Amino acid sequence: MIAISSPKHLVVFGRPGSGKSSLAERIGTDHGFRMVRTGELLRTAIRKGDALGAEVESILASGNLVPDLMVFELLERDLKAPVNEKLLFDGFPRTFSQIPLMERLEKRMGFRVDCFLEIAVSPEEALARMTARRVCPHCGATYHLKNKPPKVEGVCDHDGERLTTRKDDNPEVIAVRQGVYDEHMSPVLNHYQTNAPERFRRVNGEQSFDEVYAETEHVLGFSKT
Ligand code: ADP
Repeated sequence: MIAISSPKHLVVFGRPGSGKSSLAERIGTDHGFRMVRTGELLRTAIRKGDALGAEVESILASGNLVPDLMVFELLERDLKAPVNEKLLFDGFPRTFSQIPLMERLEKRMGFRVDCFLEIAVSPEEALARMTARRVCPHCGATYHLKNKPPKVEGVCDHDGERLTTRKDDNPEVIAVRQGVYDEHMSPVLNHYQTNAPERFRRVNGEQSFDEVYAETEHVLGFSKT
């Protein structure tokens, strides 16, 4: 597979439980990307405790998607300052109708996504992984009991906060989220694969975290080998 040449604007796709967010976090840290995580923006909105937060909270708890324009507004607010930074989008676009919103964002902010990267994992593997996920309620860092445990059990490496399970990581909600992903993301993935094949890449997410990371670095032209 031809490597993308060191992208500056990157979108990462992957079903819930694919390891997408942990992978994105590490790419961001190692290669100096600013993270743009819509799930995290939404959870921050919930923590504010206002009317919008309450609405978002009930949607997330059900496993469904937040309305496109609500997500777009949060994104615009987050990216208000002119961005010269490298950006890594995690969680956007997530529906077919968010594709033109991403294009609007690109025009408005003056950048172009260099790579759309899919971390491919089967629904069965994703399900098995999600039950072992733990998160930091303070900074949003994610861990996995087996594949990516924190240095000290039950405690965040970054800020020492007690790790918790995400509210939407229970079996019923997990099933809804997998269904929602297949329904909404298949057309998005098809779109980029068909219309922007030179910018679309897929890595095998069913390997150890380090192997997936190595393949990702290779595909993005970041590895020295
Ligand atoms: P995951 O990818 O594991 O579902 P995220 O943190 O990316 O976790 O998203 C959590 C929830 O936030 C989603 O289930 C959905 O309700 C909401 N969400 C995140 N990004 C979007 C988006 N672009 N559009 C609509 N809803 C979103």
